[in-house]
Amino acid sequence: MSLTEEAIKRVPVPPTFSSVEEERLHRKQRLAAGFRLFSRFGFDEGVAGHITARDPEDPELFWVNPFAMHFGHISVSDLICVNAHGEVVEGDRAVNVAAFAIHSQVHAARPDVVAAAHSHSIYGKSWSTLGRTLDPITQDACAFYEDHALFDDYTGVVIDVEEGRRIAGAVGPNKAVILRNHGLLTVGHSVDEAVWWFITMERSCQAQLLAEAAGTPVLIDKDMAALTATQVGTHLGGWMGFQPLYDRIVREQPDLLD
Ligand SMILES: [Zn+2]
Repeated sequence: MSLTEEAIKRVPVPPTFSSVEEERLHRKQRLAAGFRLFSRFGFDEGVAGHITARDPEDPELFWVNPFAMHFGHISVSDLICVNAHGEVVEGDRAVNVAAFAIHSQVHAARPDVVAAAHSHSIYGKSWSTLGRTLDPITQDACAFYEDHALFDDYTGVVIDVEEGRRIAGAVGPNKAVILRNHGLLTVGHSVDEAVWWFITMERSCQAQLLAEAAGTPVLIDKDMAALTATQVGTHLGGWMGFQPLYDRIVREQPDLLD
């Protein structure tokens, strides 16, 4: 067996499930961990921000954080389940109206999407004011090369599903969208992936803001950016990026699994 084959054999892979209950619990654990990580990275801003996970049994249902609960306090048992009409069908706390307006439409438009993440993180919202997509200035930023869009409009707090539908349209087939004058939104085939894309996109916004404040960054050329995107921007790559962070946050804050 070659060194590469041996190394590949030891690489973690996404789990498979023997029941829908097992898969639901797994998604909820990843979701709670995602909120704790968002808090850890300082992505909270009052009551703003939401991460959703589609229910594995009923694709019209999604799990989300309760309105006005701090990301840093969310455990598995705090998550609420919302239906296609915005009604809370599990849990006794309220849903954030904007979470429903945006995420219900993203989930409806993208059947492949299991999870979507949004917050008013500082570098994402700062970058969003420029009305530009990110350039391929680093290896990490190439994960978003030709795979993110700009929602080039701002119409107040998103409380209308029609506005959520326009945002979902802007996401298109991409893994992320920059909501102008608002912040970032990322999606994934797993909670792990959506959360990781959010974290690394926020840092790519920070990197480009720093680089442009200091000078004129050299862009990675188109062919190399496209190649790098196939190396760092895959669904599996997104899932993988989350694994060390999940291990870290569960070790630090095991009550998130309660
Ligand atoms: Zn928002």
